[in-house]
Amino acid sequence: MDDDLKGRMETLAIHAGHHRTHEGEHSEPLFLTSSYVFEDAEQAADRFAGRAEGNIYSRTSNPTVRIFEERLAILEGGERALATASGMAAILSVCMALLKAGDHVVVSQSVFGPSVALFQTLARFGVATSFVPLEDVQAWERACTDRTRLFFLETPSNPLCVLGDLVTLAGIAHRHGAKLVVDNTFCTPILQRPLALGADLVVHSATKYIDGQGRALGGAIVGTESVIVGEILPFVRTGGPVMSPFNAWIFLKGLETLSLRMKAHSETALSVASWLQTQPLVGEVFYPFLATHPQYALARAQQSAGGGVISFTLKDAHTRQAFAFVNACRLLSRTANLGDTKTTITHPATTTHGRLSPEARQAAGVGDGLIRLSIGLEDRDDLIADLETGLRAVAALEGAR
Ligand SMILES: *Cc1c(COP(=O)(O)O)cnc(C)c1O
Repeated sequence: MDDDLKGRMETLAIHAGHHRTHEGEHSEPLFLTSSYVFEDAEQAADRFAGRAEGNIYSRTSNPTVRIFEERLAILEGGERALATASGMAAILSVCMALLKAGDHVVVSQSVFGPSVALFQTLARFGVATSFVPLEDVQAWERACTDRTRLFFLETPSNPLCVLGDLVTLAGIAHRHGAKLVVDNTFCTPILQRPLALGADLVVHSATKYIDGQGRALGGAIVGTESVIVGEILPFVRTGGPVMSPFNAWIFLKGLETLSLRMKAHSETALSVASWLQTQPLVGEVFYPFLATHPQYALARAQQSAGGGVISFTLKDAHTRQAFAFVNACRLLSRTANLGDTKTTITHPATTTHGRLSPEARQAAGVGDGLIRLSIGLEDRDDLIADLETGLRAVAALEGAR
């Protein structure tokens, strides 16, 4: 695009970051190359010494990856983005770059399982973690010590769609000299822009909605030029958890349709969530944009729509009923992934949260009767027909009792 082109999200998601090469390509070019050729020895020396800009090796820079980084940074309203091999590589890189032995971090109890495991692993390197309830801002304040360097959270949480109040938590973090890091995988910048609400860094698993079609693993970190280039880039270049150019090209294509997809996921999810609330066998339904959500006002204030993830309980249900429901579905995919065009169904208590002790699961609110859906892009009535099949299977069990 022309360097001075400005626009709204939908336009930027399609055009930003692509500086057309002399070949005049219309679609973003894919540079599958591990290294780059120097015109002469002097140029090589200048680039290695940092006296001249330019590519050296794809662990340190790649033109296709850079287009993805520029485009995502603009969408998140950040100065700079850094692409990584996966979402977990993004979180690991933030920790490795910003923490040292003796530091302390405060982490939401309701983050992605491997993120919990990662912070627990950091204890071996002398970094202590306090896990606190996401919605309890006083608990975040109480957990702070003079060693606290980072706050880390996801909002809405998985699977119960609990929200973190970003403006308030950013204020608490900054008063204690800590940075607020928000995993924005569930909302994407289309629905929520944490940097504008006070967050210092946003991390992504591009594997989910940014790809949107369940094909590739990737991640990203977005923030200010000084933190990304000054602090995080040196670790990523050296440690090597970089994004492959082919995956960057896939994610670029994903960004082009992200706005359309997030709106469609959200619209269908709200409709399905409302329908679930009318079903006699369904207990609670968890979705941020239902007016019955306890943090509905906050959801409306910090998100532009509810996103694609819903969870709900079956009344008086145990694993047997939940399994009957999951197994009866024909259209919904039984897979733990989310953010796909295909709707997915999971039983969190025996999959994503299966490694927790029964007490920890109870504390997290993940009961045996809880089911999570990631609503895809199929027709709403087809999804409801499949969910009705699930409910009939549960009713048949009840009848047989
Ligand atoms: C999947 C996921 C991650 C990890 O991303 P990977 O790309 O699988 O490494 C981190 N955070 C959230 C919220 C996720 O859903």
